[in-house]
Amino acid sequence: MPAFTGWCASCRVGECYCDACQWCGAALLKFDEQFWSQIGRKIRWAMRKNRALLSRVKSERESLYGTKHKPNFPSPLVWLHTLWEQTSPPPHQPFAPQVHYQVANWIEFLRRLGLSKGEIIEVLSTADFPDGQVERQGKDYAKLLGEDLRKLGEDFRRAVGYVPGSVLDLSEMWRTMTWVDRQRTVPMARLKGERVRKRNPVRVRSGRELSEN
Ligand SMILES: [Zn+2]
Repeated sequence: MPAFTGWCASCRVGECYCDACQWCGAALLKFDEQFWSQIGRKIRWAMRKNRALLSRVKSERESLYGTKHKPNFPSPLVWLHTLWEQTSPPPHQPFAPQVHYQVANWIEFLRRLGLSKGEIIEVLSTADFPDGQVERQGKDYAKLLGEDLRKLGEDFRRAVGYVPGSVLDLSEMWRTMTWVDRQRTVPMARLKGERVRKRNPVRVRSGRELSEN
């Protein structure tokens, strides 16, 4: 895949070939030397403010992609490449981005089967389903059989290894889905190392919109 050469700030998409945004026609922010040296200054500033930042970003990336696939830094950021090589991950790493991706994939899968978010929480976090069709508290679990619902939950918990907080309640689930969505669609969110939880969360979607999906 070719590297992005520019970025449309209003559509929040990267472009590889064009000078203008394919979607809205606006001029792109070019990823040129000037752009990267500006980014470099911001990264230096962020690293001065938070001495653990590089170490944390490196270990998050390695937990997602392994240690063999190193990031490619553009030439104006060669100093960052050197620092990256010299940085070792922190001893404790409670934040496991791959779990959030796993959870998001499972939720998307179960929603395609027709389960509501409340039903998904039950399926992923409990084994509390009798055999046969299950109907309770106005829920019908997409008419799936209880034994199938139990199997789905078991598969999920085996894959993840435990029951993450993001499948225990709706707001945690919303945080995970929003974070994964931003990681996938907004390269700047990755660059900034956004966390699932932060003090002033950027609400990219309102809770209402999400519950209507
Ligand atoms: Zn655009």
